[in-house]
Amino acid sequence: MTGQVQGKVALVTGGASGIGEAVCELLAREGASVAVTDVDDLRGPDVVARIKKAGGEASFWHHDVTSEERWIEVVADVTKRYGGLDVLVSNAGMGISVPTITEMSLADWRRQTAINLDGVFLSVKHCLPVMRKTGGGSVIMMSSLAGLRGAASLSGYSATKGGVRLFAKSIAMECAAFGDGIRVNSVHPGIIDTPIWGKIPAGATGSGQNAPIDPEERAKLATLLGRAGQAEEIAQGVLYLASDASRYVTGTELVIDGGMNAGAVPRS
Ligand code: NAD
Repeated sequence: MTGQVQGKVALVTGGASGIGEAVCELLAREGASVAVTDVDDLRGPDVVARIKKAGGEASFWHHDVTSEERWIEVVADVTKRYGGLDVLVSNAGMGISVPTITEMSLADWRRQTAINLDGVFLSVKHCLPVMRKTGGGSVIMMSSLAGLRGAASLSGYSATKGGVRLFAKSIAMECAAFGDGIRVNSVHPGIIDTPIWGKIPAGATGSGQNAPIDPEERAKLATLLGRAGQAEEIAQGVLYLASDASRYVTGTELVIDGGMNAGAVPRS
């Protein structure tokens, strides 16, 4: 541990699993007090227990990012417990895939948009005032490679993640205009081996095949490095953006994708 975020207070949404879980653990290991928030009341407290066992500071809040009422309560609670807020990691998200967009129900479209986009909107709406009082900070929005380019069969997901990307840039501009010392950036993971893949219904992977999605298999073909990423590898990028090492970085995007976005893989 090198104390890269020593003394900072961080709120991480979707902190009970995958990338969010790795972010919570790394930020705590590097000295932050971490508010782990999620709808998963089983895994969330486990993450907190592991952090505490390792000597870090964390607490869990049950928190559906689509509920404005809950945002108000959670931000007030976190601020009361830790005395401010320096880092917001708006990470909670999900994907719904369909072989053709004509099969997407309006209810599913709205659910996905509510979590991936409304949740990010509510996060900044309710955290920025506290961060402004704290005297600055870093907002990190979890987008995706699907927020930089299209994703067959995940078009709705791609729309939300593209929205997150430009929302981050726009809020970075707003914060600069306020002169509030808050930096805002988006992170764009490629194929990362987390539980999210098991939650995407089989048969709609863009491959046209009716098989469960194996991230490792997909990444072998699609990335320059020939493998899926690990949640910890995304957490390292988030740590950089959360820490003062990135003090000159705002309004931009950090792509962590094993080279997937660089171009076609030159394999014979
Ligand atoms: P994950 O499924 O392991 O974790 C997502 C977490 O979000 C879960 O703990 C879940 O309970 C929580 N969540 C879902 N709905 C919520 C809600 N309404 N309110 C609060 N929490 C909620 O997935 P992950 O792979 O760790 O994904 C994290 C983020 O990274 C997501 O935004 C995802 O879109 C993005 N991402 C993931 C990948 C990947 O390959 N894994 C790639 C690009 C982007």
